[in-house]
Amino acid sequence: MEPNAAMIRAPLIDRFGRTITYLRVSVTDRCDFRCVYCMAEDMTFLPKKDVLSLEELDRLCSAFVGRGVRKLRLTGGEPLVRKNVMALVRSLGRHLDSGDLDELTLTTNGSQLARFAGELAEAGVKRINVSVDTLDPAKFRAITRWGDLDKVLDGIAAAKAAGLAVKINAVALKDVNEDEFDDLIRWTHGAGMELTLIETMPLGEIGADRTDQYLPLSQVRARLARHWTLADIPDTTGGPARYVRIAETGGRLGFITPLTHNFCEGCNRVRVTCTGTLFMCLGQEDAADLRAPLRASEGDELLHAAIDEAIGRKPKGHDFVIDRQHRRPAVSRPMSMTGG
Ligand code: SAM
Repeated sequence: MEPNAAMIRAPLIDRFGRTITYLRVSVTDRCDFRCVYCMAEDMTFLPKKDVLSLEELDRLCSAFVGRGVRKLRLTGGEPLVRKNVMALVRSLGRHLDSGDLDELTLTTNGSQLARFAGELAEAGVKRINVSVDTLDPAKFRAITRWGDLDKVLDGIAAAKAAGLAVKINAVALKDVNEDEFDDLIRWTHGAGMELTLIETMPLGEIGADRTDQYLPLSQVRARLARHWTLADIPDTTGGPARYVRIAETGGRLGFITPLTHNFCEGCNRVRVTCTGTLFMCLGQEDAADLRAPLRASEGDELLHAAIDEAIGRKPKGHDFVIDRQHRRPAVSRPMSMTGG
């Protein structure tokens, strides 16, 4: 079918009636860390020609905004190591000014935040997620292989000084940081930040056995409930996390549990990689190439037709499994490619 002007403006609604309002865009596959659960140490990165230019990323994001996406999250790899990424952030900020976008945000490892926090705030970013799995500098170095915790903490301080709200994401890792969740709660809530714990997801070959890392958050929650008062609160972010309020701190704690709790029925999001590949589900292999239609013409008609076709195939849900029978990843691409 030839796309027409009405189709191009139509909201993105999949065959299960879910409206797509949230786009996560990986702006680079490169990262200055090598987190053990995410990447192998000797990762090979994509050739430059395969990666969308900043202008192409802008065009792609803007096409989605034109179709009703209200929230845009830049991620990676590490978004802040992409050369001149602030030009993209500033340019996308125009959709905030026009009212077409409610939120422009990013997920970062914090290593470059001290440098960019002020500019992010000026571009209209209000909240960011920073990934910190441990407050122990030696453990931090061991998990990230290359990371410096002090630099990240300086970055977080700069973000707060610039007026950005900060949410800390920590992946729950068996025998690695499971003794630290109390400290992470005290630290984040004491500093006016939120904390979200994430289960390890079976994404990508990482050169290690994931059953060694997997820690069900149902178990973590039960343990926390022994000495914190946890009260369920309704989800307000439109994301996959379930939230509790901790009475003792007054702060909010989120749990992202793709393995122990399936959250697909309310899924409102899709992901695009830095090569313009659209993934309709984080936990499935099916994807659509948006780079070819993007590069085929200056107009966006082909791009919109490809987006429509892909949204029509968005699957009902994912089926992650980590157990002794399923030692291979559920999907072969790492989180750094799809963007966490
Ligand atoms: N570099 C940025 C950062 O560190 O936040 C953005 C990209 S990173 C892939 C996004 C998030 O995905 C991080 O919080 C990271 O810990 C998480 N992550 C990576 N691989 C994961 C996996 N296999 N399971 C669960 N979370 C994962």
